[in-house]
Amino acid sequence: MARIVMKFGGTSVANIERIQNVALHVKREVEAGHEVAVVVSAMAGVTNQLVAWCKEAMPNYATSEYDAVVSSGEQVTSGLLAIALNNLGIKARSYQGWQIPLRTDSTHGSARIQGIEGDALSKDLSSGTVACIAGFQGVSPEGRIATLGRGGSDTSAVAIAAGIKADRCDIYTDVDGVYTTDPRIVPKARRLPRVAFEEMLEMASLGAKVLQVRSVELAMVHNVRVFVRSSFDAPDAPQIGPGGLPPGTLICDEEEIVEQQVVTGIAYSKDEAQITLRGVQDKPGVAAAVFGPLAEAHINVDMIVQNISDDGTTTDLTFTVPVADYERAMATLRAGNGAIGYAKIDGASDVVKVSVVGIGMRSHAGVAAKAFAALAANGINIRVIATSEIKISVLIDTAHTELAVRTLHSIYGLDQA
Ligand code: ASP
Ligand code: MG
Repeated sequence: MARIVMKFGGTSVANIERIQNVALHVKREVEAGHEVAVVVSAMAGVTNQLVAWCKEAMPNYATSEYDAVVSSGEQVTSGLLAIALNNLGIKARSYQGWQIPLRTDSTHGSARIQGIEGDALSKDLSSGTVACIAGFQGVSPEGRIATLGRGGSDTSAVAIAAGIKADRCDIYTDVDGVYTTDPRIVPKARRLPRVAFEEMLEMASLGAKVLQVRSVELAMVHNVRVFVRSSFDAPDAPQIGPGGLPPGTLICDEEEIVEQQVVTGIAYSKDEAQITLRGVQDKPGVAAAVFGPLAEAHINVDMIVQNISDDGTTTDLTFTVPVADYERAMATLRAGNGAIGYAKIDGASDVVKVSVVGIGMRSHAGVAAKAFAALAANGINIRVIATSEIKISVLIDTAHTELAVRTLHSIYGLDQA
């Protein structure tokens, strides 16, 4: 017997028929003898509608009331799922975030989880009741409903799995796992049976939009094994596949990954814009003068590259920002030129960041050199390079996205035979 959390996203609960299908997935696990907590999203499209209504009522609404409105989508599906389970003769009840309680801070609209009191939930589970939990929400210190940010029910599910010490958190979604790269660009992409938390974190933040990034961070911190699988699989399909699990991807500690590859995947993000400051004074305090105002404007800076100046006077500074913040970042920097003192500002928004990810890189030399050679052979110019222990990222022109991703996927042996 195991204790598992099952999470179903919006498409999986889009109508009553699909909710009944979810109930069948849950029934299978209950009949296998497991204790089950289910976390659900709102029906597909519902949260968008609720957000739109808030804006229509008043563009500058109070975020605490926004939370009261948008959390209602999950309230509906948690109750409907409990009803659908009852209809199958299974003991079940709904839980709203505040009933668990899942405690958050007061940042309405994008609250952070502070803790979960899992005792009542655990008691219910041990007595054979299925807990149908509204994802995406918790309760603030002021006793008000707070939501976790769009896509937040992944994070709810992982947090609850940690809070009740579940053996696994199964995320049922509209893809059947995590792939070596985007299969729309590379048809030869393969589904990965296992991915380490660190790798998934890089892949998720680099645009592989299977899971909310925060949920991966949380899973890593609490060592919650997350299994991504398709909600379109028939509820009665065989549950034993490679590694004793049905088709999907297990996100887990690297210790659990026996056959390690040097490179696990190629990710890309078109959500980047490049900014270059030329002729920046090479003296203490300049980086602070550049990045301080950007931070104050809540603009997230990603790749940062600066060189040592030749003559000790001026240097160039290049970095990337989210493309949505590009104009705002340029305006902020122009306004701040007094304090920064640069000669010229350049930028480009038609750029893409392509990244090679793999924990095996830590112990292998030559991974980066291979990427650079392959990109050069294809005439792709690299604007910026950034690396971490398990990742190499290059910023290139958007026009080369597909060629670059396909080339890198193939040279690291990731193509399906
Ligand atoms: N319903 C929320 C959203 O659409 C949360 C979620 O689905 O994860 O963002
Ligand atoms: Mg989602």
